Amino acid sequence: MTILAIDIGGTKFTIAVFESGRMVARESRATDREGGRDWMLAQIQEVAAGFLNNHRPARCGIGFGGPVLFPEQRIALSTHVGGWSDFLLPAHIEETVGIPAIMDNDANVGALGEALHGAGRGADPVFYMTLSTGIGGGMIAGGTVYRGADSYAGEIGHITIDPNGPPCLCGARGCYERLCCGLWLQRDHGRPAHLLLLDPAFVSQYVVNLAAGLKACIMLWNPARIVIGGGISKAGAALFDPLRAELRRQITSWTRARIDVQPAALGDDSVLYGAMELARQWRKT
Ligand SMILES: [Zn+2]
Repeated sequence: MTILAIDIGGTKFTIAVFESGRMVARESRATDREGGRDWMLAQIQEVAAGFLNNHRPARCGIGFGGPVLFPEQRIALSTHVGGWSDFLLPAHIEETVGIPAIMDNDANVGALGEALHGAGRGADPVFYMTLSTGIGGGMIAGGTVYRGADSYAGEIGHITIDPNGPPCLCGARGCYERLCCGLWLQRDHGRPAHLLLLDPAFVSQYVVNLAAGLKACIMLWNPARIVIGGGISKAGAALFDPLRAELRRQITSWTRARIDVQPAALGDDSVLYGAMELARQWRKT
């Protein structure tokens, strides 16, 4: 099956074509925040139309960078770009590009990509976490996304790590995302995360909160593997070794739940592979 995959993030969007599970075309463009939703939709339509000259996708999968009400196939809201709230994006794609489309939030879609085609292959269930500008999470069990009752499962970014901590953009205090994501690391410490993580003294402090969030995930869900993607995950062993050690220190003494934490394997393409998989699994009613 030929599938069109779309990854819409805060700073860029990427469109790819997959044939029988293999990526055969890919184009990425920067997001113009000023342009807003309609500008971006026109860009997406233009890139997709270019691909349609050489490919005939039967379906389209979309990973969107914000909460999605999955049963309704509706964007709940976007914190990055205005105008997306309540938008029926797949219906719009079907109308303008002519391909039936299905969408989920990019953390769930990235989780699907990593679980089935990346660092989570062979493990079940898999918890995937994006650790970049913000923090998102996705739960994959039996090869499909676990979404919970209202499409909000896996939102690890806003579990409380420190109830007396600094205010998060969501209005609560001391959220996991507020204490550990790239945006706030830079604001709190005056340097971008990838530079901060070169300092072993900084890392040894940073992993205390980072492990606390993953401990909650392990105690609650006992994943066979945790896969971490996003810009900060590119720090490699300098981050993952102290993180695993801190998790072993924090984890409840009597649990035999495994601690298997791996960096993502698909780089910037986790969401594209997941979008392909989402479309492939789609049981149209
Ligand atoms: Zn929050």
